[in-house]
Amino acid sequence: MDGIHGDRERSFALAERANALMRDYGPSATPHSYAVWYAYVAGTYPHMNDALKRLTGASGCLTGQDIESLYASYLDPARLSAATERASSSVLSEIAGVMEVLDLSLGSSAQYAASLRTLTQDLDGMPSNQTSSVREVVAALVATTREVTANNRTLEARMRESRREIEALRETLEATRLESLTDPLTGLSNRKHFEDSLGQLVRGASAATPACLIVIDVDSFKRFNDVYGHITGDQVLRLVALVMREHVKAGAILARFGGEEFAMLLPDTGRAAAYAIAETVRTSVMARELVKRSTGESLGKITISLGLAMHQPGDTAVSFLERADQCMFRAKRDGRNRTVDDADGIPADAVLDRNLSNVA
Ligand code: GH3
Ligand code: MG
Ligand code: MG
Repeated sequence: MDGIHGDRERSFALAERANALMRDYGPSATPHSYAVWYAYVAGTYPHMNDALKRLTGASGCLTGQDIESLYASYLDPARLSAATERASSSVLSEIAGVMEVLDLSLGSSAQYAASLRTLTQDLDGMPSNQTSSVREVVAALVATTREVTANNRTLEARMRESRREIEALRETLEATRLESLTDPLTGLSNRKHFEDSLGQLVRGASAATPACLIVIDVDSFKRFNDVYGHITGDQVLRLVALVMREHVKAGAILARFGGEEFAMLLPDTGRAAAYAIAETVRTSVMARELVKRSTGESLGKITISLGLAMHQPGDTAVSFLERADQCMFRAKRDGRNRTVDDADGIPADAVLDRNLSNVA
């Protein structure tokens, strides 16, 4: 009890110090600013404290930008996965470079051995009076070369072994990287990968290449789970993912956004084609008669509601996703099991509950 009480007192004392420093050094009492100052007084990240001291030492205060950069470098929960991804891709390119050098080196020792073999054969074919002294030199050379070749073979064997190990390491790294981008239940992209792809698409989008985004939410899924249980519910989520996969072309990003919500990001796809995909997915899901495999019990049908937005010039990732979301909410309000698109503008009274994490 004492320990808990002590921790409580300590945390309030730290909060007071953080508050006082935030007031003295500015710039304002935002959540990020509080997080930085609290971590500072608690001494959680000594490197952050050093960086903060350097900043305040230089200018006597902290700017909003200083706070954001300290937060992003030391406290943001997303920083670790971003750093891991950066590290794994740099290791992968490093490995690719080493592999190239190994290939080159293996190739050149094989070539050298081959050209010496040819030289020996040429000399063997010449009359002995023309070649006696050359022959001696070459004999010595060939003996040395044999030794070198034997050494090279050992080296080659070692290099091949290293190569195999590097290749295995590369595969493990790649698998880990993919795992960090994948939703384990459905095998679709996870929310982080989806948001990264959405950001990329929006940054690279041009009026010449249309792109569409479909947001999908399973209808009345809470009731389904309540009646049939979560494990059967999970099977339904897998089924929706399967149907989504069946109906898109290469290049589309399919994601489980979280819970029973999905998204399809369709580059190079105009509104009519995207609408057709949305409707095909909707009717295919509805057409599946669900049966519990273990008992043969019929689980009826499930339906989904879809919102479709077409990328517009000036869209950010947030505005693009919000429009698709608003259309999906409209589909719910209009009775579910339908697709609503943003062709007639954004439904004005749509309710938003999306909490964006990484999308800028
Ligand atoms: P609506 O038609 O308005 O979308 O109704 P709903 O019941 O689908 O919506 P609501 O958001 O109230 O409920 C979503 C439910 O989805 C809650 C939870 O039971 C279920 N759910 C969320 N994530 C998972 C999951 O990973 N597995 C399973 N089986 N169910 C999940
Ligand atoms: Mg939902
Ligand atoms: Mg739902």
